[in-house]
Amino acid sequence: MIKSYLLAPGLRELFGTAQDVLVLAASGTGAMEGSVTNLLSPGDEAIVVNGGKFGERWTKICQGYGVVVHEVVVEWGRAVEPTAVAQALESHPKARALFVQASETSTCALHPVPALAELTRRRDVLLVVDGITAVGVLDLPMDRLGIDVLVTGSQKALMLPPGLAFAALSERAWAAVERARLPRFYFDFRRERKGVAERSTAWTPAISLVYGLRAALQLLLEEGLAEVYARHDRLARATRAAASALGLRLLAPESPSPAATAICLPAGFDGSALFRYLRDRMRVTFAGGQDRLKGKIIRIAHLGYVDAFDVVTGVAALELGLRHFGAPVELGRGVGAAEVVLAEGLPAR
Ligand SMILES: *Cc1c(COP(=O)(O)O)cnc(C)c1O
Repeated sequence: MIKSYLLAPGLRELFGTAQDVLVLAASGTGAMEGSVTNLLSPGDEAIVVNGGKFGERWTKICQGYGVVVHEVVVEWGRAVEPTAVAQALESHPKARALFVQASETSTCALHPVPALAELTRRRDVLLVVDGITAVGVLDLPMDRLGIDVLVTGSQKALMLPPGLAFAALSERAWAAVERARLPRFYFDFRRERKGVAERSTAWTPAISLVYGLRAALQLLLEEGLAEVYARHDRLARATRAAASALGLRLLAPESPSPAATAICLPAGFDGSALFRYLRDRMRVTFAGGQDRLKGKIIRIAHLGYVDAFDVVTGVAALELGLRHFGAPVELGRGVGAAEVVLAEGLPAR
């Protein structure tokens, strides 16, 4: 039994790849770090799209290993412009890899990965995508798009507790793994690949999570990946409609992520107090903003094990919380707007 789990049906389908999907015992950042150490050598150059806390993490990992980073800095809440990345690729012809988030969870913006893949496919540059709030949320077929490395973690769309990280690599990424000279041991992808071939892992697997993974993949496949993606899209549109109906601005209106929605609070509003009230008194947990967005936004997650009524509950709690703190809210307005969208997903009969 233990040895068969890497055949977990659905993992390749989920990544849209014919390649092996490595299963690591780590949080998502482990797969991010492994992507850096397995592809690059000391002194290598890389381009990082930095549009939030997770983009910043790519930079920190790279710099931690002595990789020279050229950042494409993106205003928080916006998606990167492919032309800005094209320019960075021109300016830094020695860059070996481009690191980006598909969905930048800290701002809830979606970066245009297919357009970036168009750029890297034609060059000798590897495209490394943090898909931690994208894999299982939206269609991101890695082989078809030409993504070189796609990583995710267990605790987001895969509906599991934290503790597993996943990585899949293209042929040319595997060739780079052979050449890379950065130090690596626990996250040595060569060992892990050998493990997959033997239906095992290099190190002790997080076996309880691996059993959970089988069940999670089964749920996703039973629902059908197309419907999984449609559900996430619907929940996201419902949440955005609710925010607009309440007169609240989105942080990422132009390219919003289907995984989570960041809503700007009215100016002068104490977002941290609202967050605590909602969590501790109303028992509905949102995410706040990080760093410079602390207290200014509230984030509603709608990925993974969620359905229409989670969104309704979240929006209702937000309405009541805003009113509690004196914001002029017409109760039910956001819920009503959300329901109009959610009704699209009702069973036929
Ligand atoms: C959650 C998340 C991570 C994950 O990090 P952990 O190591 O699992 O805490 C990385 N990138 C993105 C975009 C995320 O949303």
